[in-house]
Amino acid sequence: MNKKYRKAIIAGNWKMNKTASEVRTFAEEIKSIIPKVKTCETVLCVPSVNISAAMSAFRSSRIAIGAQNMHYEAAGAFTGEVSAEMLSELGVKYVIIGHSERRQFFGETDFTVNKKVRRAIDSSIVAILCIGEDEAQRAMGGTIAHLQYQLSIALSGITAQEMRHVIIAYEPIWAIGTGNTATDEAAQEICGEIRTFIRKTYDARTARKVSILYGGSMNAENAAGLLAMPDIDGGLIGSASLKSGDFVQIISATAQEQA
Ligand code: PEP
Repeated sequence: MNKKYRKAIIAGNWKMNKTASEVRTFAEEIKSIIPKVKTCETVLCVPSVNISAAMSAFRSSRIAIGAQNMHYEAAGAFTGEVSAEMLSELGVKYVIIGHSERRQFFGETDFTVNKKVRRAIDSSIVAILCIGEDEAQRAMGGTIAHLQYQLSIALSGITAQEMRHVIIAYEPIWAIGTGNTATDEAAQEICGEIRTFIRKTYDARTARKVSILYGGSMNAENAAGLLAMPDIDGGLIGSASLKSGDFVQIISATAQEQA
């Protein structure tokens, strides 16, 4: 589908990596090599304890700082959690919601994901909503049905108007951190199906405008091919976002794609 309606988004997911001083080192490195491309929005989702450090380290760059998770309640007795309001006050504009590692290791369900998407929207934070099938679901040919199920619950109660605060990240679990990237064509096919689902659930305009990212072992070598696909508007990148040189090459691939 025509990409002119959507801006490319390259989002790094640092997971539980880099201390505050390492954040500052990365910022210095990347500021000297970041390309002048304005073809994508660039986001780094850092551990919440490092958001303030990242905000000041990247202040004079065009990299936005995002979070990797938040609680769905506004405040209260939730030891160890952070709220949307806390993130907002720090200047956070993006939050990853429902990453497969949160689902696998921290008991997140499609229902808690839905509450978090709701809270993010109500707090004017863009939700990077992660969905994806595991190896068994893929082997059974159940990928599309699973993704449709995840989306139908995660987006329950979210209006077409509110979808401008949602980015969908298609992240096949079998591809995350494994080096087994989906082929360009396979990733395109699934992202196309996701857009069709959005069109059927909402309308053509919403489908045209929603950004769909691919995530799962995207790196400096394979980014250009994936980003050239008509329904892939960017990437959610784990390990390759930890190396400034690799991350910059992925950002640059969005410029080639639009050249
Ligand atoms: C991720 O965890 O969101 C991810 C895509 O990781 P990686 O790029 O390392 O596969």
